[in-house]
Amino acid sequence: MSHSFDADRRGAATGPSTTEPSAVAETDAITEADDVIATDALIVGAGPVGLFQVFELGLLEIKAHVVDSLPRVGGQCMELYPDKPIYDIPAVPVVSGRELTEALLKQIAPFEPEFHLGQTVMAVQRQPDGRWQVETSRGTRFLACTLIIAAGVGAFEPRRLRVEGIERFVDRQLFYRVRNPSDFTGRRILIVGGGDSALDWTLNLVRTGSPLALTLVHRRAEFRAAPASVAQVRELVAQGRMRLVTGQVTAFEEDAGRLDAVTVTTAGGATERLALDALLVFFGLTPRLGPIADWGLQLERRAIAVDTEKFETSQPGIFAVGDINIYPGKKKLILSGFHEAALAAFGAARYVFPNKPIHLQYTTTSTRLHKVLGVAGASEAAPAA
Ligand SMILES: Cc1cc2nc3c(=O)[nH]c(=O)nc-3n(C[C@H](O)[C@H](O)[C@H](O)COP(=O)(O)OP(=O)(O)OC[C@H]3O[C@@H](n4cnc5c(N)ncnc54)[C@H](O)[C@@H]3O)c2cc1C
Repeated sequence: MSHSFDADRRGAATGPSTTEPSAVAETDAITEADDVIATDALIVGAGPVGLFQVFELGLLEIKAHVVDSLPRVGGQCMELYPDKPIYDIPAVPVVSGRELTEALLKQIAPFEPEFHLGQTVMAVQRQPDGRWQVETSRGTRFLACTLIIAAGVGAFEPRRLRVEGIERFVDRQLFYRVRNPSDFTGRRILIVGGGDSALDWTLNLVRTGSPLALTLVHRRAEFRAAPASVAQVRELVAQGRMRLVTGQVTAFEEDAGRLDAVTVTTAGGATERLALDALLVFFGLTPRLGPIADWGLQLERRAIAVDTEKFETSQPGIFAVGDINIYPGKKKLILSGFHEAALAAFGAARYVFPNKPIHLQYTTTSTRLHKVLGVAGASEAAPAA
């Protein structure tokens, strides 16, 4: 990164006013000494558009951190259709959701983005020096010159088990995610769900042989998971290594503050009591706008209103790109998000480098861009046209 650019960087140029004691006292502002990550840009969401935003910011020498609620990058492409073909990415005749995500990661690698996964951006507050203080559900805190929201259709959260009162056991005996499979060693496990996650974890846990007993509960006899996984589960049932129960969890029993058993009701109304130590629920993910609705941004139809010059929101310095934004003629397509990311980067540059004119340069011919892309020398090596 060139020194002349750094000298123009906000913070480097003006100094963070939040470190002045008076400012802290008056505004309750955080300081960089408080384990706060200072960054040029913070991107909320690591879907395809958030990932490409890293690239467009990188070309302008804007360093980005990226936060996503999910434990992996890729957004809808990875969560909803990793193996389905996409046919409308320019110049790429066909690519799967997974391949597109992998290609984007490769493309942005020169900019070394820092990812903070498995955490949701909860709070956003403007600081006295104009930067944004951002806090995640895990307590990670940032001070960013600019914020780019690429939050898609909202934060993906697990669909909940709808049995009144059972939520109080979450993360003690009721789990929507497996963090550490060894937590279930020697336990009686009940897995609920009929999709890929439910079956993958069933197969994984039965094969490791760690649970004392495992029962899979699904409301129907048919599954939504890969046929090969379904066949393997049926084989394990036939071998007596696990049970399969068709029905829905409708009630639970508690003993001395512990979840002791659940009642499963079949379509015909019959009930069965299943004793358990841990209940793993995999009903898929559902997007929620969630905390974004509280950041003081103008919203329209559950999306963030932006201009079409810079894709800036009603809050100067906060941009919104991809499926989360709305403007006349908006189409929720990946290619629209990529275009928005390019223009938002130029808009964001004005907050990161307030004193520096920003010019458009071509990646083909600009030696400066070749340097930031780590392909310096490429222009000299290329044959003349
Ligand atoms: C089945 C299907 C097929 C599709 N096929 C095509 C196609 O062929 N071509 C096409 O162009 N488009 C297609 N789309 C649409 C395309 O997937 C979306 O336009 C694209 O994913 C939008 O990208 P994004 O980065 O804006 O948002 P997303 O992909 O939704 O990613 C947003 C990310 O932000 C995260 N997030 C949200 N809120 C927070 C928060 N507060 N804190 C932290 N993280 C947060 C989410 O967890 C998520 O990972 C398809 C969609 C579906 C469902």
